[in-house]
Amino acid sequence: MYIDQVERLCIDLAKELFKADFVDVRPVSGVCANLVIYTVFTNPGDRMLALAIPSGGHISTGRKDFSGTAGAVHGLEVEYFAFDRKEMNIDVDKTKQKIEKMVTEEKNPPKLAMFGGSLFLFPHPIKELADTIHNVGAKIAYDAAHVAGLIAGGRFQDPLREGADAVSLSTHKTLFGPQGGAVISFEQYGEQIKKATFPSNTSNHHLHNVAGKAIAFAEMLQFGKNYAGQIVENAKALAQALHERGLTVLAEHKGFTESHQVAVDVTKYGLGGDMERALESANIIVNRQLLPGDIQAGRHYTNPGGIRIGTSEITRIGMKKTHMAEVAELIKRVAINKEDPENVKQDVVAFRKDFQKVHYCFEAAKNAYEYIKIR
Ligand SMILES: *Cc1c(COP(=O)(O)O)cnc(C)c1O
Repeated sequence: MYIDQVERLCIDLAKELFKADFVDVRPVSGVCANLVIYTVFTNPGDRMLALAIPSGGHISTGRKDFSGTAGAVHGLEVEYFAFDRKEMNIDVDKTKQKIEKMVTEEKNPPKLAMFGGSLFLFPHPIKELADTIHNVGAKIAYDAAHVAGLIAGGRFQDPLREGADAVSLSTHKTLFGPQGGAVISFEQYGEQIKKATFPSNTSNHHLHNVAGKAIAFAEMLQFGKNYAGQIVENAKALAQALHERGLTVLAEHKGFTESHQVAVDVTKYGLGGDMERALESANIIVNRQLLPGDIQAGRHYTNPGGIRIGTSEITRIGMKKTHMAEVAELIKRVAINKEDPENVKQDVVAFRKDFQKVHYCFEAAKNAYEYIKIR
């Protein structure tokens, strides 16, 4: 009985946070949330539009030949959105032409278009493509695994208002909760989403985790706006500082980023996988990143041409725009100067000493209860 109350409370907080009239908080991860969406809106064998992995797509929306979840688990045939490398975004006109071709020539239109991705610098053009997609009888989903915290804080885009029928998310990326997932949508899909969650894609769900999600949603309601604003400000400042130090930061003409991510082409200085390891030896955690053009150039996801840097964690421990030059300098010493990571590590540890407290959260356990009680 108590766990039902916790789940209901968690759902209400998520509804308020995302201004959604239906939420299911039971999916145990972002991948599981995507499977729920596939189950609701598609059948095996259907076609889905999604981002290719080198364009920023996630393996959970990928083809079977790459062990992508959409293909391997749900039997979807994945077609790619046309992508504009320079703009680092979906190409609206070319995607419209592609959909037109799928309908008229191939006579096999998509059943679902899945926006969102893992390398995600700029809001996706849902609004611009919504009519085209809906008009061919397809549904629109949005994978907000990475950007859920930015959306919650009002700093990215608002997929449900822009034409998405359902949104999947992870609760542990920019949304700083326990590891988990959720699906947010409209009441009209509520019953189908519930059934697709249980019994289709979960049997038990992770009950303790739901309480953690509820607290994360409450903290996001309280602190999300400031947190998301600071994350984006830091990302832009970090991108600028890296650019000034000679690194090739993508999308300079667009101000580098509108999210928590900075994407860097490191091919002038080496490869992404090697750089990820060197930086990790210096206590700097980044991701190697497949970039558009890597596959054609013969590079592979284990050692691609890029790195992806996120500012969500450093923001959470209190770093501001003014600290980004120092962060960029530490990265540069490893990436460009090829200084011994062990040396740099000592300076990273010293720099990090001033940032030991977790911010944007309730100060005491009691605060969460008070927050919930006063509501
Ligand atoms: C991380 C990620 C996921 C997977 O989320 P998990 O919660 O780790 O299962 C799904 N989609 C995208 C775009 C992601 O970046």
